[in-house]
Amino acid sequence: MYGVSPKLHASGDSGQVVILLTKSLNKPRNAFAEGKVAPGRSGAINVVFRYDDVFLKGGSAERDSLDLKVINLFVREGVSLSVAVIPGDMRESEMGKEVPGNPVESKSLVMPFILAHRDLIEVCQHGYCHCMTASSAVESEFTARTAADQRSDIEKGRALLSAAGIRGISVFIPPHNTFDQDTLTALTAAGFRAMSAGESLHGACTQDGFAFVPALSGLWGIEDDVRQCKNIQERAFIIVLFHNYNLKERGEPRANMSLQELEMLLQRLKREPNISFLTISQAIAAAPEQFSMSSFRAYSLYRRLWRLHHLPLLKRLLLYRFVYWPARTYWKRNAALLLLDAVALAVAGAIVACALR
Ligand SMILES: [Zn+2]
Repeated sequence: MYGVSPKLHASGDSGQVVILLTKSLNKPRNAFAEGKVAPGRSGAINVVFRYDDVFLKGGSAERDSLDLKVINLFVREGVSLSVAVIPGDMRESEMGKEVPGNPVESKSLVMPFILAHRDLIEVCQHGYCHCMTASSAVESEFTARTAADQRSDIEKGRALLSAAGIRGISVFIPPHNTFDQDTLTALTAAGFRAMSAGESLHGACTQDGFAFVPALSGLWGIEDDVRQCKNIQERAFIIVLFHNYNLKERGEPRANMSLQELEMLLQRLKREPNISFLTISQAIAAAPEQFSMSSFRAYSLYRRLWRLHHLPLLKRLLLYRFVYWPARTYWKRNAALLLLDAVALAVAGAIVACALR
């Protein structure tokens, strides 16, 4: 199937973008979508790109223009992308004082483009308005609110997306990657079955039947992550999170890559023999067990043991932060090693204590 790819022209200081939809000769190279690879096979490296903070109703012209160029780049290269779309009304100033007082009333040029490329671009619901709730101890739109309030906002957001023609969304991405048990309860009641957040545990949150896809990697260093994954003999999923502000064209100090560098990165990754590019929901479909709540619970146990464990024998050998999301057995094995290490040291300590008596 040949895609329809836009040619983008930014004109003048206004950043106005004109989209010309033209027939492209770039055949999408999403091997998973074409059924040519089995992403779940041992040794396969699966890369999921997650691009956060796109406005359903449009942001500033400058912001929308860059969002459009990023998404267009992925379409042109035939690389799958999951986009976290903020459905509700908000002011960009609330997301870091980027455009103080700028009411988000402009008509988005991004969403029609996404709608035309749903084969490669997945829309995920990114909260409701990305506002910060005052009652939460951490930066969050949802934590420390009642399940009913959370569900109300989640459903309002979903209705706005649906009204814009975006239906069938299965993945929820909580703003600031923060949530609590009530968020999971509300999401389940609202019909969601998957979440992508960060690696934080957020207490003892758990929800059977819910998929959890944590983003552990960023744009910069992804090739090192791929090299690491080549050394393991199990299927790997690298979930890469990036934002508009990570691109140099945005002009922010935290930017670390230009659009051209991103294009070259995608082209280098595409030349790797074992890489598949998936959306978040494709990753879940490829390895549901790997992203299950029981897998997350095994990870949670491992993280807790890691924190409690102050004896360094094996700890040095185990990676604290993973760039990829391994299978549940990996967490269980590492948790067992930590326990074994603690027991071995306790026995050794007892023997030494007896000998010194
Ligand atoms: Zn966000």
